[in-house]
Amino acid sequence: MFEIRTRAADSRARTGTLRLAHGTVETPAFVPLATRGAVKTLEPRDVEALGYEMVLGNTFHLFLSPGPELIDAYGGLGAFMRWPRPIITDSGGFQIFSMGHGGVADEIKGRGRSGAARGSASAILGLTEDGVRFRSYIDGGERFMAPETSMAIQAALHSDIALVLDECTPFHVTRDYTARSTERTHRWLERCLDWHARHGPRDQIVYGIVQGGVEADLRVESTETVARSRCGGIAIGGSLGQDKPQMHQVVDWTTAALERVTPERPRHLLGIGDIDDLLVGVGLGIDTFDCAMPTRLARHGVAIVPDPARRWRVDLAKSRFRGSQEPIMEGCPCPACAAGFTRGYIHYAAHAGETTGPRLLTLHNLSYIQRLMSDLRDAIDRGVYAETVAAFMAGAAPSVR
Ligand SMILES: [Zn+2]
Repeated sequence: MFEIRTRAADSRARTGTLRLAHGTVETPAFVPLATRGAVKTLEPRDVEALGYEMVLGNTFHLFLSPGPELIDAYGGLGAFMRWPRPIITDSGGFQIFSMGHGGVADEIKGRGRSGAARGSASAILGLTEDGVRFRSYIDGGERFMAPETSMAIQAALHSDIALVLDECTPFHVTRDYTARSTERTHRWLERCLDWHARHGPRDQIVYGIVQGGVEADLRVESTETVARSRCGGIAIGGSLGQDKPQMHQVVDWTTAALERVTPERPRHLLGIGDIDDLLVGVGLGIDTFDCAMPTRLARHGVAIVPDPARRWRVDLAKSRFRGSQEPIMEGCPCPACAAGFTRGYIHYAAHAGETTGPRLLTLHNLSYIQRLMSDLRDAIDRGVYAETVAAFMAGAAPSVR
């Protein structure tokens, strides 16, 4: 299901093709989020027209609403949301476990990431070998998710790639806790694969998830354990550290071990997608990435631009863009820029609460990332990956195509 086409000589970067139940995905690729069955503000045809071949749905959210039975009755998530191409579904582990530490659940409820919400009571009611009990953010009711539950939900969603349920260990726990939690995740991996072998859709691929926190030996051990399993691909999850150098280090340990023990299987890096992280991650041998960044920034009035000094971002909601006649990004071929929308209009829409603004910036940001990934694939195939990354790191814009 995964063919590697070109391997870079001076890094672990590679190009390939994922052949999945609902189509093919050229890699390395970025996967936009359709967390709750929609790429926010876009229709599937918009996402397709930008050149994307796969989106990511989330088991946790779709479990709580509208429920896997309802989606199954439509023939799966793709048929329900009218996306005809491949879908990868996250297992729900990250969302369940991040509830206890603030973050994802707080964002859903519209609370800040810091302050009072941070100290609110955990929504995890109990974690045992069997699975995890938690409180629904929708109706406050208790829910239980076992490894088998997650696989059954993903079977009902008919995703092309399913992820095993993992305990997502946070950064601040002890090494001992991380070690024990990683071992449990490995036992859950086997239970997920057992369930899938008996009941899962035949054309669904299951990815195992490497945990191990920020400890080199635990990461390598987890990588080797996951590689020994029957999983079809490998995802890298959990705490990747407290800053970018540490995150890149953790990914490096993992892909170095993968290169040694299972170089042919596809690799997905969970929840990472800043421009510099994509550039580094591809060089470390990651095949697919998903991240809320481009779509979430768009909803906050932030455009992705070729400005490394400002983390490739410009906040158009800032007052200095009031009345600006400048384009969102000079020379950008995306539907928003091509139609002539100005920074001043985006600024106005952000403050007026007009949903056209987030939609235009979502088109722009996703177009930027798609063209960047396309350039990286070309660069790897042409043997000029390092030079191309250096140019992007120095502020080059992706090709106009
Ligand atoms: Zn644009």
